[in-house]
Amino acid sequence: MPSPASVGFKRLCLFLCLLLLPSASHAWNGAGHRQIAALAWEEMSAENRQKVAALLRQHPDYPRWRQRQQKNDPKGDPDYGVFLEASTWADEIRGDTRFYGAKDAPTPRLNGFPDMRRHSDWHYRDAGGGNIDSALKKLASDLAHGNRAAKIYALPWLIHLVGDIHQPLHCGGKNDRGGNQTTIINPARSKRPEMSLHKYWDDLPGPHWQRGKYLSDALNKLRRLPPPSQAEPVGDVNRWYSESRELLAKQVYPPRKKISAAFQKHAETVAAQRVSAAGRRLGRWLNRLL
Ligand SMILES: [Zn+2]
Repeated sequence: MPSPASVGFKRLCLFLCLLLLPSASHAWNGAGHRQIAALAWEEMSAENRQKVAALLRQHPDYPRWRQRQQKNDPKGDPDYGVFLEASTWADEIRGDTRFYGAKDAPTPRLNGFPDMRRHSDWHYRDAGGGNIDSALKKLASDLAHGNRAAKIYALPWLIHLVGDIHQPLHCGGKNDRGGNQTTIINPARSKRPEMSLHKYWDDLPGPHWQRGKYLSDALNKLRRLPPPSQAEPVGDVNRWYSESRELLAKQVYPPRKKISAAFQKHAETVAAQRVSAAGRRLGRWLNRLL
């Protein structure tokens, strides 16, 4: 039998190993996802906004979203604010004990949800795995044709994943877990300028706390970008994925480890274009699916 000391030592080693693993980032940060949701809302018809709001009101986490909306934008439209807050739900359930990961025992179902898995592999697709594209297609079909519980479940996922698939590093990388294992130096950050390339891209839309006036300012800039052509097919997941792959080949990796002012400007432009396209496309797709 191992002595308590050796068990303690093993635990310490495990803990240190976990610390040393590059912490994986998962998506555009909250700012990016809320910007995408806000642009989608503008694209949606009044009737479809009502349908979306009715579904979100029946979601078990509606009270949390409503609370955040009231805190950050007390005079704003609750339906709009809740739609924005729901955009990060798929990332938040990663730390939520009501849901379970690949190695955990299943947890009880909420609200008739189809399943309670955290589905961390739905957020990306690269050489190592992930299935963001097929997940999006399945969720869209559930939102259009599923029963009430399936629709309520699918909606926040769809809002989130349309954003993720437009983040190039969710669609591949250079054998570095979507840029999570590539380190860059970001001189714009005086404290801890070293970060993963993935996190660098996730944070390009703005600080994660961006809401209210800061969000409005960011949206004003995004609205100046040309929207995707009305002629393009609605809900074309394969196209969005290929675009991200094309960007990965030439636009996403900086020439040097230290980010230059020129690269920063370029990356901000690419990120804004992706966020803008994601928002418009999400709105058009929801108009079609609901
Ligand atoms: Zn994500």
